[in-house]
Amino acid sequence: MASPVAILRGSGTLTPDAARRTLVTTVAVPEGMQALRCRLTYAPSRVNTIRNLVTMALFEPGGASRGAAHRHEPTQIVEIGGSFATPGFVAGTIPSGAWTVALDIHCVMPSDVGGVKYTLDVEVSPVPWTLASSTRREASATGDAAPDGVAPRWLKGDLHVHSDHSDGRWGIEAIVAYARAASLDYIALTDHNTHTGTQPLREALRAAGLATLVIPGLELTTYGGHANALGIEGWADWRTVPPGARAIDRSEGDPEVLLADAGLVTVADGDVPVPFAVHQPGGTMEATARAIQGRGGLFVVNHPRSAGYPACTGCHWDFDDAPAYADAIEVMNGDWARRQNDDGLALWDRWLAAGWRVPATAGSDAHVAPTHPERVGYTFAWASPDVASIIRAVRSGGTYLSRGPRLSWEAPVAGTDVARTLPELSVRLAGVTAGCQVHLWRDGRLVEFRPVPEGDSIQAFPLKSRPVAGTWFRVHLVHQPKVGTPELFAMTNPVWVGR
Ligand SMILES: [Zn+2]
Ligand SMILES: [Zn+2]
Repeated sequence: MASPVAILRGSGTLTPDAARRTLVTTVAVPEGMQALRCRLTYAPSRVNTIRNLVTMALFEPGGASRGAAHRHEPTQIVEIGGSFATPGFVAGTIPSGAWTVALDIHCVMPSDVGGVKYTLDVEVSPVPWTLASSTRREASATGDAAPDGVAPRWLKGDLHVHSDHSDGRWGIEAIVAYARAASLDYIALTDHNTHTGTQPLREALRAAGLATLVIPGLELTTYGGHANALGIEGWADWRTVPPGARAIDRSEGDPEVLLADAGLVTVADGDVPVPFAVHQPGGTMEATARAIQGRGGLFVVNHPRSAGYPACTGCHWDFDDAPAYADAIEVMNGDWARRQNDDGLALWDRWLAAGWRVPATAGSDAHVAPTHPERVGYTFAWASPDVASIIRAVRSGGTYLSRGPRLSWEAPVAGTDVARTLPELSVRLAGVTAGCQVHLWRDGRLVEFRPVPEGDSIQAFPLKSRPVAGTWFRVHLVHQPKVGTPELFAMTNPVWVGR
């Protein structure tokens, strides 16, 4: 029996200067191989309370992605072959030639070893081996036949969910149980930098007899912000130039920098140096967004006011030009009461005040079943039950965000403009609990509020004067306890007075 062959054995220390860069190295895969395994270790895994984070991605000869492992474990093993792949990676043949192993260095804290000590080993095998990892996945066909032409209705969905294909601590079966328990009409699987969970989730939902649609996508996990690419099949390159930097002109050759000049890795006695280069991403975040949109997808800025480096590397949104190209902004991420959501809402209001017509979304960002599902919000879309229709609704703002109660525009219809002759605005409410109020916001100012009855009602707001073109309105449903802090329960997207 032929045995595995080591094609790379390396070790050294990644210095703090290596953080927020991608180091790449190529390995020569001989002909006739049927399996490939990469093993990465690093230590220390954390310094005081801050976690170091190094993740792996693989590219085959020619540059096609074979997946990414955005995992936080300090030992990571990736295995791929004709009919199997570690979650996050793409099963298939192992072509010979120069493969690229990429280390995304998200965070390296200063430490008494000068950073993090790492080892990286790659081996190949002419015969498929029995997988070491317990997370075997069979390769499967792609594609999903969605029903079409069905009349629109309000569809409840979660636009932001992770699985064990990246750093989720739950698998596909648990997500199916969540979709059932939350009565989700659609769910977007948005693993970090990989799309490989999409098809297994579709198949598992189908096998469970659920009609929940899967919005294919991934969370573009950069060092300067996270964004969801929604409604595209397959992989998308997340690597961009840093915020504020210009696109790199590649016309004069490959700008990758040999590490020898960069001093980002140190080598001690006994280490085996790896010939790394620093990956130079070519495009801006705008170019990344335009590429997603060119494939028919949506580009949604996620949790823009989350904590940043080093507490949550890349989580804070730093690309200030985003309102010019974002399709939507996730203002409600996970637990609605979090400070970062207040700050995200304030950022969105600044975009609106500047005249950008960018709608908002909500998502659980669940990495495991939510412990307090009543605090997590959903995006309700006025759409037919097919992916394209839901994508259109999110893009147009034909949506509302809610932790439970229904709150939808009655006039004008969600996602459309306010006709200049409309005498009043109105919203339809359902499932409202005691102690709630509706708040009408106009151009960022609270202009009217009143208590609303429990259950179902329609609330109208007469327009006393004709608003000028570009004026926008939004309605919030707020729970106002007798004692304590008011809590946002639901929010429409804005409607604008037509120009
Ligand atoms: Zn994120
Ligand atoms: Zn996320």
